[in-house]
Amino acid sequence: MQNHLVASAEPTHPLAEALLDWYDTSARTLPWRVSPAALKSGAVPDPYRVWLSEIMLQQTMVEAVKPFFARFTSLWPTIEALAAAEADDIMKAWAGLGYYSRARNLVACAKVVAELGAFPQTEAELRKLPGLGAYTAASVAAIAFGQPAAVVDGNVERVMARMLALPVPPAKAKNAIREAVAAMVPPVRPGDFAQAMMDLGATVCTPRRPACMFCPWREPCLARQRGEQDLYPVKAPKAEKPTRVGAAFVAVRRDGAILLRKRAGTGLLAGMAEVPNSDWNARQDGDTTERAAPFHARWREVGTAEHGFTHFGLTLKVYRTDGVETAKAPPGSWWSQAAEWEGEALPTVMRKAIRCAIPTAFPPKAKGKP
Ligand code: SF4
Repeated sequence: MQNHLVASAEPTHPLAEALLDWYDTSARTLPWRVSPAALKSGAVPDPYRVWLSEIMLQQTMVEAVKPFFARFTSLWPTIEALAAAEADDIMKAWAGLGYYSRARNLVACAKVVAELGAFPQTEAELRKLPGLGAYTAASVAAIAFGQPAAVVDGNVERVMARMLALPVPPAKAKNAIREAVAAMVPPVRPGDFAQAMMDLGATVCTPRRPACMFCPWREPCLARQRGEQDLYPVKAPKAEKPTRVGAAFVAVRRDGAILLRKRAGTGLLAGMAEVPNSDWNARQDGDTTERAAPFHARWREVGTAEHGFTHFGLTLKVYRTDGVETAKAPPGSWWSQAAEWEGEALPTVMRKAIRCAIPTAFPPKAKGKP
């Protein structure tokens, strides 16, 4: 395994040196992170925890990830344990975190790594694993294995756009940003450098009102020198997001159980659980009337559930029917008791639809609890 603190003849870039000094005193304490002090005392990052956290953090805030990370590492403390788990159990534990293709890739990746016997250590090899794009491969290589990889996410793009006063949106200058970061990656502590960049973007060079007086790069930063921090990063014109419509049907049995079914194995929210609903997707509306109901009953319209997907918004008209007497569920469906709903692989949009029909469903959790 790579030594994260190995001595090198190469000099450290002065900007990297300033950033690492700042990180030594200002690093965030995160459940998946080995602190700079612990690393200096010889602690070694666990590639499994690094990889798991990086997958969870894709397009998701740190605070939202924490309870999921705690749940996953307590259920499956190693990559081997995760590889041996039932895919359905992993999907259930992931429910609520969103971007469900990540969970499917998580299962596939765990199996590949368990078969290999360990995570590969280079960025190029990591890139071949399911679900690891350029960013995640670079971050795991740097943080878990001390490789000098340039780690660039949205936070880093914002910091660099301001540092360089980039005149175009970051999406149009990806290579220039990557090269500028790569030129700074230090030969010693590249993992800490990557995490320091993330922390700087998350805690100091924030999207609004950056706290430049606490920034280790305030002197060389071009945007700060010009007093134009608010002008960067330059924004790309916003693409219009369509809003799709559809209907969702919450059938409540006499004992309070509701009818659920499993979505198809491919496409949006593949393999997740849902209440019966009409056939909407990113490109087309679904039926919003009772005609799309799973069976004939007295359906009442109870409200709407709204949800934002990456490329479209969705408004579901929610219907409810009560007192269903059958014990039998239609093929491919099942009756789920209230005590089981939290454990079902229900994505957020379906939780919203159920809560619209049954306001006591999915009460907010006490803070700090998974
Ligand atoms: S000086 Fe201000 S704008 Fe520039 S990188 Fe630091 S926090 Fe961001």
